[in-house]
Amino acid sequence: MSSIAEPTPLLSCRDLSMHFGGLAALDRLDLDVHQGEVLGLVGPNGSGKTTIFNVITGIYRPTGGSVAMEGRSLQRMGPQAINRRGIARTFQRSRLCLELSIFDNLMIGDHNRLNHGLFFNLFRRRRFEEELTAHVQRSKEILETFSKPLAENLFQPVSSFPMIDRRRIEICRALIGGPRLLLLDEPSAGMTHEETRQLMDDILDVASREQGITIIIIEHEMNVIRRITDRCVVLNFGQKIFEGGYNEMVNHPDVQAAYLGGTESNEEAA
Ligand code: ADP
Ligand code: MG
Repeated sequence: MSSIAEPTPLLSCRDLSMHFGGLAALDRLDLDVHQGEVLGLVGPNGSGKTTIFNVITGIYRPTGGSVAMEGRSLQRMGPQAINRRGIARTFQRSRLCLELSIFDNLMIGDHNRLNHGLFFNLFRRRRFEEELTAHVQRSKEILETFSKPLAENLFQPVSSFPMIDRRRIEICRALIGGPRLLLLDEPSAGMTHEETRQLMDDILDVASREQGITIIIIEHEMNVIRRITDRCVVLNFGQKIFEGGYNEMVNHPDVQAAYLGGTESNEEAA
């Protein structure tokens, strides 16, 4: 991938800061993400990775700097408006409603398109029903990319599926509105190596099927980063300490000092 004469980045953060009292969770961060790439975001616990997602998606308002999508500022936009612009995410901790069906959970992910209000739904019932049918169809298509049994059990409660399927459902929920930028916050958390491998295959599938989709993935598992990312950014104390390819990253002394050493020993202790 060429790094010179790039077109306008899909997403660009400039001088981005997020302070919580005296703590700088993000400290004057510059970050560009280009259309179609899979960017790995890594760094030790507390380095500001999830905070970037919270700022990009409008959950937190940054205390400094700016975020723009295709050169247009996202400033002062709320989470729903940002989602309509084409940014969707999954959360580090699952936010599925376990008692509800897969379909209901996917509906929640597409409320931006489906919610016309009570009057519309009552008086334009035909149109509403058509939209629901289309939604069932779209849900099945997306689920099938991940797993056929999920698509076939659309109306079963999420609680009846194992962890890996729940993660798939969460990713489908983010995908259902057709985002151009997908933010994945530690999708492999709580899964076995084999489950993680399968899920990453699914994510690669999605990247190739949903043509042109751009992904930022936060991940501790270095095998995952190596396998699926085009480029990596490393954070430490809210600052970018490295940007480049996987091999260069794992051999970089600052990265080793900040991240690999610390995390590996933490994981061994855990
Ligand atoms: P990471 O995802 O890299 O583990 P986070 O972005 O969650 O790190 O957190 C970065 C730092 O910001 C941490 O020190 C965390 O405690 C702090 N932080 C995050 N969100 C808040 C908040 N809402 N209020 C106060 N501190 C926060
Ligand atoms: Mg986090």
